[in-house]
Amino acid sequence: MATHHGKFFIALFFCVAPFALPTFSYAQKATPLVIQGGTLIDATGRAPIEDAVIVVEGERIKAVGKRGEVALPRNARVIDAKGKTMLPGLIDGHCHLLDFMGEIYLHLGITTCPDITQNDDEWTLAQRDGTNLGKIRGPRIWSTGARLVGPPPAWALRGERGYLIKTPEDAVAAVRKKKAEGIEIIKFNEYVDPEAIKAGAAEANRLGLPVTCHCLDAFLAAEAGFAGVEHHWGLGMTSIGDVKKRWEIHERRMTGKINTADLSYYYEPENFDKIVKAMVEKNVSWSPTIATWYRPLSPSVARFKERELSILDRKEASYLPGVLREQALGQYERYAKFPPERLNNAREGYKKLEDLIRRYVQAGGLIRAGSDPNNGLPGLGVHQEMVMFVEAGLTPMQAIQAATVNVAKAFRKDKVFGTVEPGKVADLIAVDGDPLKDIWATQNVKLVVLGGKIVDHEFHANFKNPIPAIRAWRATPQEIEISPRSVVQGSGAATVKITTRRGFDRFHKATLAGKELETRFISTSELEATIPLVLTKQVGTYPLIVVGQGDSASKSAPAYLIVSFKK
Ligand SMILES: [Zn+2]
Repeated sequence: MATHHGKFFIALFFCVAPFALPTFSYAQKATPLVIQGGTLIDATGRAPIEDAVIVVEGERIKAVGKRGEVALPRNARVIDAKGKTMLPGLIDGHCHLLDFMGEIYLHLGITTCPDITQNDDEWTLAQRDGTNLGKIRGPRIWSTGARLVGPPPAWALRGERGYLIKTPEDAVAAVRKKKAEGIEIIKFNEYVDPEAIKAGAAEANRLGLPVTCHCLDAFLAAEAGFAGVEHHWGLGMTSIGDVKKRWEIHERRMTGKINTADLSYYYEPENFDKIVKAMVEKNVSWSPTIATWYRPLSPSVARFKERELSILDRKEASYLPGVLREQALGQYERYAKFPPERLNNAREGYKKLEDLIRRYVQAGGLIRAGSDPNNGLPGLGVHQEMVMFVEAGLTPMQAIQAATVNVAKAFRKDKVFGTVEPGKVADLIAVDGDPLKDIWATQNVKLVVLGGKIVDHEFHANFKNPIPAIRAWRATPQEIEISPRSVVQGSGAATVKITTRRGFDRFHKATLAGKELETRFISTSELEATIPLVLTKQVGTYPLIVVGQGDSASKSAPAYLIVSFKK
């Protein structure tokens, strides 16, 4: 689509430029852009080019080279990038598209979000189109939309949203429907039957759609022709040779008995190499998403936290949901509360994970840096993960590629995205400093070019997504139980335990008859609330509801507290 328009446009411009600038209203857009004087890391893996020139015409990069070696177009807008490093716009290897995140992404130099979450197809597509049209300020979107999900196991809290896949035919039909809608990436969850996975993946590959998954069997993903596997546990859980034990551990995690930080302790390094081999042979990319869970175990923890809060504390960013701060702090504090043995196990597990990452990359695996923002600031996880990759032993260049070209390759977009080369879409950033010397420099974003246009990368207090999300970002558990279920009239401050199977967070508050209670977060399956004397004065049946934050629709179903007569 854009190629056609772009070529026409450039041709027209060159025809008329030597005489006089045309007075067409779009003449302004035709002005070529030249960014020169900076050091270019083009992300192909080549050595950086110092004093580089990048020529952008329309949406595309026209020429790249050293100053003096590249012909400059007339009438170009010239940007001086001296002292800066130029890079391709970053691509989040595991993005969750959220309606408030556009500015965060641009601010962090992330120009593309492959939306690997479980948004409804229609919403993702509307966001993608809005962004392409310049109506929504935010990164370019590659759409995944709703997942293809298997029937949930008996212990599951509830089924995941998405296309319910029971048979190979279901999978093929869902893939075709998504292709017809314009969806670009297919994602399976771990409960889909292997035969349905294979049939769906074959159809997706036939239609040119890359496939990725939440899975516990990386061998199956490789065999089925997947383009990617998501999360560290995609490979890590595969390494647990005893399949029954593997699923038991998964169940314990999904029911909140252990959490993701505990998981890697169980990984079996003796099986890493054969998994890596299967993945690399079939060119299956991997987004381990370690930052979201393991950054508190990184030697950079203090700096991560400081940086995260410095963004959240910006006045112009105050429109961001307060939940972000809660969950960021929650993640840092979570580890501080681990008893020593559990913390040691988590550290040991994290070492295994670094080892797995090293082996995968050494073997030629296509690793992606991804933010997976359930426990951190969306987008920032990409930068944090680049830092953690370097700590694990990858080179800064490998880390940069993990957040650019590797993601483009994984999702078969590398013909036009992911590197700074002639013919590619001009998604570019300039940062202060040299990320090859200090990977933290990727965060000093000074200029963002999206599709050939310089875009505003600051926060604005009035930022608004014209098409808000349909669903609560962090859904509040629906079914809750309370204990005790009755208190005696006038009994004074009573403590009530509120339980659910999973899904409580630190920002959840209990309310009784609409009044907020003092609430303590105990675990993802338990809260504690204090019923003050004043609320026990009148006998009655009162609804106790757990309320989420930042989203009025996010509430639990009521449990009822009875205030009984004093005998
Ligand atoms: Zn995710």
